Amino acid sequence: MKYANNLVTIDVPGQEEKIYSQNYACTDCGISFEELTPRMFSFNNPFGACPECTGIGYLMRIDEDLIIPDKDKTLYDGVKAFGASTMKKGDTMAKMYFESIAKHYGVKIKDVPIKKLPKDFLNKILYGTGDEVIDFEYTSAAGTRKYSTSFEGVIPTLERRHNETKSNGMRSFYEMYMSESPCLACHGARLRKESLSVKIGDLNIKELTDMSIDKIKEYINNIELTPTQAMIDRTDLNKS
Ligand SMILES: [Zn+2]
Ligand SMILES: [Zn+2]
Repeated sequence: MKYANNLVTIDVPGQEEKIYSQNYACTDCGISFEELTPRMFSFNNPFGACPECTGIGYLMRIDEDLIIPDKDKTLYDGVKAFGASTMKKGDTMAKMYFESIAKHYGVKIKDVPIKKLPKDFLNKILYGTGDEVIDFEYTSAAGTRKYSTSFEGVIPTLERRHNETKSNGMRSFYEMYMSESPCLACHGARLRKESLSVKIGDLNIKELTDMSIDKIKEYINNIELTPTQAMIDRTDLNKS
């Protein structure tokens, strides 16, 4: 199979070469393609890699179960990596956040196991309060400071710190609490959607390479391409 200029050449051994012209832009949805090149089909290449997961096929996300491994503990001593280790010494930002948010929603958190907290409230602690503004009051040696803002959430905060840190040690620290989660953009195929929209017959490169070499040979040998099939599958693009 060769790609040259605006033509896709399907070279089936023992058969006449078939040439199909290519159209690289969809006038309906405005998505345009560069000329088909091998780099479009490599997840190691920025031209092919899924931009969401940078071609890895999954995302490293902070894992709720690793942040709170023991749900019999309370918010005061059960939340890892978010200041839990220093909370027993006295007022910390984490304690202040949790108590202010609990007060705002009228939820009791002292001596209450995390598993007994209202699910909706725990979600706000873990994933943030969205547009909901919370009144925070922070007392330190310097005095009392009051301010009102929404809460980013334990998990987004840790993921942001992981992304922003320049320290390898801190990055490793956050990664202890991360696990692989599926990339919803490419569903593990590692390639950008434009590349996955290019099909040989009915199959894209991911579906093709998931087969054994023998099956691929058989598939290619038996393929009867219509010019439409050889062209970019617009239907798939519009779905995503
Ligand atoms: Zn389109
Ligand atoms: Zn992806």
